[in-house]
Amino acid sequence: MKVLLLSAEVEPFAKTGGLADVAASLPQALNDLGHEVAIMMPGYRRALYAGRPIRETGVRVRVPIGHRTLEGRILVSSLPGSDVPVYLIDYAPYFDRTGIYGAEGVDYPDNCERFVFFQRAALEGIRMLNFQPEIIHCNDWETGLVPAYLEEVYRPQPGSVFRQVSTVMTIHNLAYQGSFWHLDMPLTGFDWSLFTPDRLEAYGRLNFLKAGLVYADLISTVSPTYAREIQAPEGGRGLDGLLRARQADLYGIVNGIDVTVWNPAIDPHLTARYTVKTWPAGKAANKASLQRLAGLPERADVPLMAAISRLDPQKGWDLVVDAAGELLRRDLQIVILGTGEPRYEMALQQLAQEYPDNLRVYLEFSQPLAHQLEAAADLFLMPSLYEPCGLNQLYSLAYGTVPVVRATGGLADTVVDATDETLQNQTATGVSFTDPTAKALIRAVDRALALYADSDARSRLVSTGMHADWTWHRSAEQYARLYETARLRRAGSHLS
Ligand code: ADP
Repeated sequence: MKVLLLSAEVEPFAKTGGLADVAASLPQALNDLGHEVAIMMPGYRRALYAGRPIRETGVRVRVPIGHRTLEGRILVSSLPGSDVPVYLIDYAPYFDRTGIYGAEGVDYPDNCERFVFFQRAALEGIRMLNFQPEIIHCNDWETGLVPAYLEEVYRPQPGSVFRQVSTVMTIHNLAYQGSFWHLDMPLTGFDWSLFTPDRLEAYGRLNFLKAGLVYADLISTVSPTYAREIQAPEGGRGLDGLLRARQADLYGIVNGIDVTVWNPAIDPHLTARYTVKTWPAGKAANKASLQRLAGLPERADVPLMAAISRLDPQKGWDLVVDAAGELLRRDLQIVILGTGEPRYEMALQQLAQEYPDNLRVYLEFSQPLAHQLEAAADLFLMPSLYEPCGLNQLYSLAYGTVPVVRATGGLADTVVDATDETLQNQTATGVSFTDPTAKALIRAVDRALALYADSDARSRLVSTGMHADWTWHRSAEQYARLYETARLRRAGSHLS
């Protein structure tokens, strides 16, 4: 199949979260399965200076934005170590900026037109590039209008190359919908008659993601549990009714991990590389060097728990901050790596001052440190309030770092709670808890500490986790089946 993946983030060109990892790894894995894949993303300044070779395609696209017509150009690069092309839509007034979505925590005020431009330019570009996809795979709100443009604007055109093109819309995080005030509607070029609750409008506003969910042939999200959660009012963020209506077209596919990057046997960031056979010695060496780096007492026997994530309420930081004082009274070292909301940065810094002997906080974004921490830690804490898929618990499993998670979304689908039964039948991989409270978190950590102290139980957990297959190959096969279904759906469109 010929697949075009559209994404606002692609590693190593531009990344703020897991979307960038998916947008780089899935195309590569599909390519390995024999499909022909290309990627399109905006040509942000950081993407053009990401150190990848870039050349001109010679393709210029003219894009209507309101009453204006803007001209952009399409550049092409490729994913590292692969020939999957990455097309970069370049228009300096929109994308030659320091940020992706904004600067210093504030969104750019013209994000609506920036991403309208990206989406229309992508469709205009396809007409001129030598790549005619059968499937357009849209990811998150920045690409949500594409299925609507195809249906309302491009397919009806005489001789349209898009007539047989199917669309899949993937939700990586329903909290971000691209919701803009209604007066941005004219920027899109859509007729006002489409500004209705069964098309582009959600609660009086223009909603990009909703457009994708209405118009795409199929919808997916990044875990089966999250696919169920978003159909309920508590998880649906106002779109649960629509998602329930499209239940039959909604799939959940867990992300994979890039095992060329996240593999303790070859990871260049580690002090000692290790495998499922050599993990006790490997982890001990990494732990000692991390303790040295972090200025924590160099003790092999003390359990070390890591957390790496955006400092955002989604990730359960309120629970961590509430529980920290109690947890740090235990014989336990905690190392936290994260950036984000200042209130959490301040709270964590204060805790680090109070508990210098067993807490170290790094308020930075550092890939090397993220790798070292995964290898060094015994336990990994991820108490998310909601988690569409989550990658760090998968990295933790691969690194033999026992995850302690809240059972939500992808965390529920990927971590098997340790009970007598699951330990016995060798399916347990971690510890999970349900209540979003500090008390439940502390109980879960205490259970994890008890398992850590029991060397037989610990070995079983680590070994089952390290053996689990969370490679992209597995996910890509599921996406390929999804694309196949989308092709069949196009024959009989669901829109009346
Ligand atoms: P989300 O996409 O919601 O942020 P995921 O777990 O899916 O959460 O992906 C987060 C990605 O960002 C992971 O690759 C994680 O290692 C990385 N990450 C988050 N914060 C940091 C940080 N401070 N330093 C290094 N990597 C980080």
